[in-house]
Amino acid sequence: MDLAGPRDTSLLLDAEDVPPVHEDNTAGRSPFLLTSDHYGRAIPRRLGDLGVPESELTRHIAWDIGIAGVAGALSKHLDAHLIAQRYSRLVIDCNRPPAAASSIPRISDATVIPGNEDLARDAAEARRQAIFDPYHRRIAEVIDRRLRDNVPTVLVSLHSFTPVYAGIARPWHIGTLYQRDTRLPPLLLKLLRAEPGLVVGDNEPYAVSDETDYTIPVHGEKRGLMNTGIEIRQDLITDPAGQEQWADRLACIFNEIETTLRAQR
Ligand SMILES: [Zn+2]
Repeated sequence: MDLAGPRDTSLLLDAEDVPPVHEDNTAGRSPFLLTSDHYGRAIPRRLGDLGVPESELTRHIAWDIGIAGVAGALSKHLDAHLIAQRYSRLVIDCNRPPAAASSIPRISDATVIPGNEDLARDAAEARRQAIFDPYHRRIAEVIDRRLRDNVPTVLVSLHSFTPVYAGIARPWHIGTLYQRDTRLPPLLLKLLRAEPGLVVGDNEPYAVSDETDYTIPVHGEKRGLMNTGIEIRQDLITDPAGQEQWADRLACIFNEIETTLRAQR
């Protein structure tokens, strides 16, 4: 098996591979533009299983468990456009700058990814051209179109996190992630904290940075859009009932935020 991938970058994905970009509700009228960088865990057929056992490919290292169900339901409830990425973050992480070492990780949460070791520069470039670029090009196009049409746009980047990391249990049910936006995250934090029984992370379990993130810095901050990341703990959204419950809760909160923002304008 040729783990290093093809020289001709157009050959990384063939007719039997799924397209990298998934979209729901492209004509959605909500100001919220939803993105999901770690929505899927597909691997291009030419890359086989990256040398990783199947049991590892269903873990959080391969994708954001549960977020696809939440993102789909939230898109429907809010009438919001969702742009999502179907390939595993182990192939190329669509929320990392391509120059970062973690863009194509050789080790993820102590699991070695043999198919990512000693990767030739053109093989890495092929993954970028086949998966990373089309996804981010599509987000940029949609934002361009919305700005041109004067459609209010607030970027919400949806993620999920593992309940235990490096042996330490994480107490938060949900966290907001942000860097430079001072408008949306405080509103979201206030409403989440008003929900009974929720432990809410303020830039926990992660904070956004230019070095460790791509979608929010590039599509949110550089474009001057209001933005936030959301991280939901995976054990809460493992099944469809949990996904629906969290989508309902977030839809109520985002509707309230929309009302507040419109009143402020
Ligand atoms: Zn994620």
